[in-house]
Parts: sequence; structure tokens; C-alpha cells
Amino acid sequence: MVKSCTRCLYTEIHPLGITFDAQGVCSGCRIHEEKDTLDWSTRWKMLEQEVAPYRRSEARYDCIVPVSGAKDAHFIMDIVVNRLRLKPLVVAYNKYFNTPEGIANLANLRIKFNVDFQLKNVNPHVVKKITRASLYKYGNMYWPVLAGESVFPVQTAVMMDVPLIIWGGHQGLEQVGMFSHTHAVEMSRRYRKDHDLFGIEPAEMNGPFDDLSEEDLLNYRYPAFSDIEALGLRGLYLGNFLRWDPVAQHHQMVKEFGYRGRAQARTFDIYDHADCYIHSGLHDVLKYYKHGYGKVRDQACREIRHGRLTRTQAATLVAWHEAQEPENVDLFCEWLGVDARGLRFILNRHRNPHIWAETAPDTFHRKENSGAAAQIADIGKHPETRPAVPIVMPGIDPEIAQVPQEYITIGRGVATPPPPPKPSGPTRFL
Ligand SMILES: [Zn+2]
Repeated sequence: MVKSCTRCLYTEIHPLGITFDAQGVCSGCRIHEEKDTLDWSTRWKMLEQEVAPYRRSEARYDCIVPVSGAKDAHFIMDIVVNRLRLKPLVVAYNKYFNTPEGIANLANLRIKFNVDFQLKNVNPHVVKKITRASLYKYGNMYWPVLAGESVFPVQTAVMMDVPLIIWGGHQGLEQVGMFSHTHAVEMSRRYRKDHDLFGIEPAEMNGPFDDLSEEDLLNYRYPAFSDIEALGLRGLYLGNFLRWDPVAQHHQMVKEFGYRGRAQARTFDIYDHADCYIHSGLHDVLKYYKHGYGKVRDQACREIRHGRLTRTQAATLVAWHEAQEPENVDLFCEWLGVDARGLRFILNRHRNPHIWAETAPDTFHRKENSGAAAQIADIGKHPETRPAVPIVMPGIDPEIAQVPQEYITIGRGVATPPPPPKPSGPTRFL
């Protein structure tokens, strides 16, 4: 019998590790209680004190801020630029699976916060090679994105001699209560390897085709410890100093800065990964195969804790969304040069045998799905039963939602079709 939290929907099968107390409440729910007991105005003052020594008077950057075209980026920028009054160098890793909303959000962010911005574009052929190896060997198509997003800011900090990186929430704290807010944990290479990268360092990515070279993995390598130490580099998480609430934050960003969300089949949350075609699609299916649950469960647990969903509402949403087919599989197949059946074969090889039983060739069933659980799982098979989301989520841009489905590999800065050319005015050059 798999143990479940009596408050949220997490079970003991969680890749970040989770514990349960005598009341059957999980560590994530317990640490969440701190959000309503800590004195956040004191913690904000602590943050101001932490960043004060990094403010530079000369024409240099005070900090590096990693962003994407989704998740909390506008919120983090608002805090850094408008409230802490720091001068950031903003960096993003191009994941290549960009949606029009993600590209529009990145463009919006650059304009609204009036900042310098660096986008890292790793050679797409190399990215595909690594994706193929990581998918085949580890059942993970997102490794280059996670590795790139977590290392590019660190590389830039070392290269540009900027000793502070400001991140948003800490995933381990938010999901499973790995730390207390009061521990004020900072960025570490160890956490990146163990959790962001699922224990796989770039050097382990070689093979099975043996066509990955050291040079291919160069962009994903963490800078030398001696360089980080010489710089005195620190990475702070805003979630330790502010009452972190992604939905409330996104609401504010939609209203104040025009942040755009995207509706996706495997989740009710239009904000978190609005910039990516595969995070809530194929990548999420792999999460489901390996850990028995999808991203929607993380989001639903968060919403239970914030009091916006009851446990029953959350369970219904999770059951429905976890049963949905991933969208835009064809785009990924075309990008990687594989066919959908071959891809399914590879994905199936990575199903967790503790969770799935192969009852016939290529047919899998969840082992614990019987009785009530099976009935709940069954609801997702009927699209018309899609449960209503009891949380108001503004931010869908109907014009961008009409843009054809394709990866925008290099952002053009505008996602909507360009306006028709205006007739030439008085200034003529030819
Ligand atoms: Zn819980």
C-alpha cells in the first residue's frame, strides 16, 4: 500500500524525497504552514540586507537574473528591478521548444523592465544529439534544458564577474519541504546534480551512441569550483524571503505587465510552463511513466496548500489531466527526426516497473489501480467530463492562441503575424 498525504495528493513516491509525520501529513504541507506563520516583512528586510553589498556604483551589473518566457520570470524581474532597485544582467537558455506565448513573454520582459538580456543558443545539432542520448539512456528529453537553465547563469556570472544570482522559488522546498524557509538555502552544484539533473552530470551523458564529445557537452559543464570560490558567487532564492505563491504572482503579472498564459491538455495551470511545447506534453508523460504522476499533481498539491482547491477538486483535476494524451508530439518527432511509434517504444522502456505492469505486448496498466482509483483514472478517458477549474486564471491572449503550432527556435520578438507594410512616408532611402 503506497502511503499518501492526508492533506495533499503526494504519495511516498516522489523523486525529491518526502516524509510523513504521525498525523500522516507530508513534509511539503508542513513546511508550507510556515508561509502563514513567518514574519514576511522581517524576511524582506533580511533580503534587502543580503543584496546591499552587491549594489555597485560603477557601470557594472549588480546581479544575474535567470529568466524564461514563463514561470515567475516577470515577478522576479519586478522584485529585482522595481523593488530591490538592482541592475541585473538577465539571462535565458533557449530551449528551442518555444511557444508563441513564451517568445512574446520574453520580448515583453525585455521591454517592460528595460534591461540587458543574453540568450544562450547552443548549436541545435548538438542539442539534438544530447537529447537523443539522454532520451535513450535515461528516458529524459529535457536534460539539456534543465542543465542549460541551471548552468548558463553560473557560467555568465563567472565570465562577467558578477557575484550574485537571484533565483525564484526553490523547488525542493516548495514541493516536499526539503528545507525550512528559515534555512535560507542557497544555490549549490550538489542540488543541481542530484535534483535538477536527476543525478546525471554532463560527463555521464556520453553514449550509448558514443557520438557525444567533450566539446558537445562544454555548454552544460559547471564552472570550476576554484572560479566560483574566487568570485565569491552566491545564488539566492526569493522564495525564502517572500511569501511564495506562483498563481497570485502570475495574476499580478498578467494585470501589471501583460504576462501571457497558455492552455495545455495535461494541466489546468496556464502559467507555469506556458513557454514550452513539451514540458507539459511529452516530458510530462515521461514523468508519469517514471514516477506515476504528472506535473499537474505538483500544481494541484500547491493549490490545496494555498487553499484554492479542496482535496477532492484537486484529485478530480489531476485524474482527468493525467489521462490526457500529450499535445504536439508531431513537432517533437520532426525536430528530433524520429517517428512517433519509435518514440513510444523508447518511452515505454522507461516505465517504472514498480508502478506499471505490461499485461500484453505494448499494453501497460498501473499496478495499484483497482476499485475507486481505477474509476477516478477512468474519468480522463472521456473528454466531455473535463472538470471545471475553480480558480480564475486570466492571461490567455486569444490572438496568440491562433498562431500556428510550431517551435519558434530563435525568437523574433513578436509572436503575432507582422502588420501589413505601411506606405512609405516622406523619408526615402532609394
Ligand atoms: Zn501533503
